[in-house]
Amino acid sequence: MSADPEARAKAILARLVAFDSVSDRTNLPLVEFVEDYLGGLGVPTRRAPNARGDKAALWATIGPAVDGGIVLSGHTDVVPTEGQPWSGDPFALREIDGRLYGRGACDMKGFGAAALAMVPTFQAAALKRPIHLLLSYDEETTCLGSLDFIAAFGAELPRPSVVIVGEPTMMEVADAHKGVATFQTRVTGVEAHSAKPQLGANAISAACEIVAEIDRLGRDLEAPDRLDPRFDPPWSTFHVGVIRGGTARNILARECEFHWEFRGLPNFSSAAALALVQSYVDEIALPRLRRFAPGPQISTWMEVDVPGLAAETGSAAATLALRLARSNRPIAVSYATEAGHFQRAAVPTVVCGPGSIDQAHKPDEFLSTAQLAECLAFLGRLAEQASSDFVG
Ligand SMILES: [Zn+2]
Repeated sequence: MSADPEARAKAILARLVAFDSVSDRTNLPLVEFVEDYLGGLGVPTRRAPNARGDKAALWATIGPAVDGGIVLSGHTDVVPTEGQPWSGDPFALREIDGRLYGRGACDMKGFGAAALAMVPTFQAAALKRPIHLLLSYDEETTCLGSLDFIAAFGAELPRPSVVIVGEPTMMEVADAHKGVATFQTRVTGVEAHSAKPQLGANAISAACEIVAEIDRLGRDLEAPDRLDPRFDPPWSTFHVGVIRGGTARNILARECEFHWEFRGLPNFSSAAALALVQSYVDEIALPRLRRFAPGPQISTWMEVDVPGLAAETGSAAATLALRLARSNRPIAVSYATEAGHFQRAAVPTVVCGPGSIDQAHKPDEFLSTAQLAECLAFLGRLAEQASSDFVG
């Protein structure tokens, strides 16, 4: 493999893109490839498999296995390509006019390829602080694939002092993003003839009342004193995306369920959002549903909970990443990442990676070679920083 980092990164990216690691499929062939590559450089790796054993996260350390290192974190999974009008094979990387096209090129195998390509540079740098690589799975679905390694920080693994999550930011440093949590609510009523509604309980009516309350709660969040102008929109949002229920016009519906989400400003937890909805259910909707017939139920469960990333001005992560990016102003991003999980574990974290989120999840996703080069330069400066005495 070439000694030139950019050629090396492109070659690795072509290999990574060629693995069809859509979130509902195994990522183990990709993990094996990375293990072989790092093993060939003398870098030991460890896996954290999922419960079913068909996916794994991967961890590797370059430099001394001590606390205070920097984690470069990325996910191996990608979103599906089915139904998208690609102009070529999404799993065959193509370079055209300074752009590298392929599923995952920017979200976010490009960052992984850059980090892997720089491993020989990291090894040559006499690091005083370790540089760790963490490759996760299921980021695009549950965002839980990094948690096993995070739980091992300060125990089986050294405790890092900085995490850089390489989601596409055009190499700007993002120190904040909203969280996202998804929920399902199921209303179970009692069937009856629609001519005699006093003999039953209509699940559709109760569900619609709750949906209306969710929308009303959402409008409350637009109050001027609750805004954070760094975000677009500058408020937390509720949204109901799916509702189904009922069997016939003249039957009180026994079942109605709906799917909803909450995207909170970083310090507005999903649990707090759920509590707002739940108190309406407990105090208003459920007693009303039960007024004629015993037995109706309303249950809500959280499916996915990706915590937000709250800005920590002057944090070790922001200070280091801004220096490496030669920037002095962090940004906020609109999408959720694994960064909030690291922050929950009390490790300062920022998001900074090559490419634009505008190209992610779309047909003909691409990463520009200029962005790849900028990322490699950033990582080169990281190697210098981690081999100096400075801890920042
Ligand atoms: Zn991503």
